[in-house]
Amino acid sequence: MISKKLAKAINEQINAELWSGYLYLSMSQDIFAKGFKGIAHWFKVQFLEEQAHAAIMINYLHSQGERVILAPIAKVQTEWKSVLAAFEDTLKHEQKVTALINNLCDIADDDKDRAAQNFLAWFVDEQVEEEENARDLIAQCKMIGDNMNGMLMLDKELAVRQYVTPSPLASAE
Ligand code: MG
Repeated sequence: MISKKLAKAINEQINAELWSGYLYLSMSQDIFAKGFKGIAHWFKVQFLEEQAHAAIMINYLHSQGERVILAPIAKVQTEWKSVLAAFEDTLKHEQKVTALINNLCDIADDDKDRAAQNFLAWFVDEQVEEEENARDLIAQCKMIGDNMNGMLMLDKELAVRQYVTPSPLASAE
C-alpha cells in the first residue's frame, strides 16, 4: 500500500509534469513564431511526452486506490532570446525534474515500497534520456553558432521527430 506522503508527492509531480508540458508548448509557440517550424515540432512532441508522464502517474495512483486532485498550472515564460536559450532552459528544467523524481525515489525507499521503487525506475531512466537530449541539442546549437544554414538543417532534422507512446502507457492501453 502506498503511503499518504508518497501519494501526495506523486500528486504534486503530476502537476510538475503538466507544467513541464505547458513550458514546452510555450517554447514551441515562441520558436514557431521565430520561423523554425521543425524545432517547434520537437518541442510539441516534448509537450505530448510530458502529458504522457502525468498520465502514467495518474494510472499508478489509481492502481494504488488513490484519487488524483489536480492543482492549477502555474504560468510559464513565453519568450526566449534564441533557440539555444530555449534548449539551455530545457536542460535546466529537466535537471530540476530529475531532482523531483529522485525525491520521490527517496520517499519510496524510506517507505520500503517495492512497487513504487519499480514504478519510479522508469522515470529515473527517462530523466537520463531527457538530460542527454537537451545536452546534445545545446552542443549542436553552439557548433552551429550564427550559421543560418546550420540552423535550417537542424530545423529539418528535428521536424521528423515522432511521438512514441511511453512504454508504461502503451502497456496500459
Ligand atoms: Mg517528464
